[in-house]
Amino acid sequence: MPSSLVTAAYVFAGVLFILSLGGLSTQETARRGNKLGIVGMLIAIVVTALDARVTGYQILLPAVLVGALIGAVLAARVAMTSMPELVAMLHSFVGAAAVLVGFASYLDPNQTLTGTEAVIHQVEVFVGVFIGAITLTGSLIAYAKLKGSISGKPLMLPARHAINMGMVLGCIYLGTRFVGVPDPTAVAAHTAVQPLIIMTAIAGVIGVHMVMAIGGADMPVVVSMLNSYSGWAAAAAGFMLSNDLLIITGALVGSSGAILSYIMCAAMNRSFFSVILGGFGTAGGTAASSASSEPQGEVVSVNASETAEMLSSAQNVIVIPGYGMAAAQAQYPLHEIAKTLREAGANVRFAIHPVAGRLPGHMNVLLAEANVPYDIVLEMDEINHDFPETDVVIVIGANDIVNPGALDDPSSAIYGMPVLECWKARTTVVMKRSMASGYAGVDNPLFYKTNTRMLFGDAKKNVEAILGELREQSKAA
Ligand code: NDP
Repeated sequence: MPSSLVTAAYVFAGVLFILSLGGLSTQETARRGNKLGIVGMLIAIVVTALDARVTGYQILLPAVLVGALIGAVLAARVAMTSMPELVAMLHSFVGAAAVLVGFASYLDPNQTLTGTEAVIHQVEVFVGVFIGAITLTGSLIAYAKLKGSISGKPLMLPARHAINMGMVLGCIYLGTRFVGVPDPTAVAAHTAVQPLIIMTAIAGVIGVHMVMAIGGADMPVVVSMLNSYSGWAAAAAGFMLSNDLLIITGALVGSSGAILSYIMCAAMNRSFFSVILGGFGTAGGTAASSASSEPQGEVVSVNASETAEMLSSAQNVIVIPGYGMAAAQAQYPLHEIAKTLREAGANVRFAIHPVAGRLPGHMNVLLAEANVPYDIVLEMDEINHDFPETDVVIVIGANDIVNPGALDDPSSAIYGMPVLECWKARTTVVMKRSMASGYAGVDNPLFYKTNTRMLFGDAKKNVEAILGELREQSKAA
């Protein structure tokens, strides 16, 4: 394929990616945005494979086919609740790719760069492998934390910032030993590549340490931050391979991930730099202290039919979904309840906290999947003032995002995070299975408030029972 055609196709794919990101910014256009992204990626893959520099189709084609098959099966099988782990795992692949591309392009015996060009290439390789190794190990730790294989508690090593700083300085020193070594293939390659190998190992440790130091409640920022790192790792691979589209795509992912991290930090009232530097924000309030995770009083429980009665006599209802709704897959019957109540004349709305669930936008995706109309799904800032005029709030599988301790308990791990202030409503019904704490591991004083009622059990079963009661009532009326 002529290089001018390749360039034109790359520009077209780049435009599609930008339009795709634009589309993803609102729920109404998200589907179209996804489709544009898919078309852009197909063009990118096909055109890259047809590039004159690409040979060895007998290896490439089977590799692409096997990779595509594994990806398709995994994506089709993954439960919505495991999406965050899948995303973290995919980020780690980008990091691994950047590391492998870096080593391969450095050791390529056909590399003919000399002088300044060679030095620039070595810098690209060094920086690309550094970012890639951090992304790889950081994402693997994030995967394990999200899966629950590693505790969400932050690892607070003494002098951890000094350790990080020492490791970064060590990498910079190795960089000065690596960059500028003439013709790595002619000089004994194994000696020239040593600083690169040592730096890769150190960067891997930095990735592990950085994510280990971040507490459970800050995990949303880590997820979006690693998304950003994976973009920069891809951009670095683009520089190493002199592939403009990879540079553009990487920069788009890197910068949008950075913006998302910033938005998440603002939503959680955390300083962006303190979180990305790893665990700075958790120096004062660590994960659940044993005192704060002790139950604090008596709770009043209700059953599904009592909840249905409260709902049918309410004028204003707000539903707050959280991770438990995703785990129970309760969004479909929940939408049916909202529909039934709205048909009976009630004002029913959904309130979305920015870090609800385990992925940015997790709740919006589930509610859209169940066809909940977009105009009754409101962000925290849009609805938080409406609780005092609300008759009934249904908290379904949410915990940390409705914890009043975030506002008034300085010892809480989530102190300072804005939350949905549902306790200001007349009655709040909390649906969960037990008194267990949420992701951040802190007890929730909401459960003990006099206007709170606990509806214990699996969210889906309870929602279906409430729906059944409401339908019975409307038949009887
Ligand atoms: P939480 O994790 O705080 O609480 C979820 C609650 O759901 C649990 O207390 C659990 O209680 C309940 N639950 C679980 N399964 C079921 C079920 N089948 N039926 C009924 N209830 C169930 O979730 P929130 O959404 O309130 O808060 C999100 C938390 O996750 C925040 O701490 C956030 O920082 C963190 N996080 C968010 C990410 C994001 O990007 N959004 C990424 C990573 C972490 P029980 O066991 O008693 O049923």
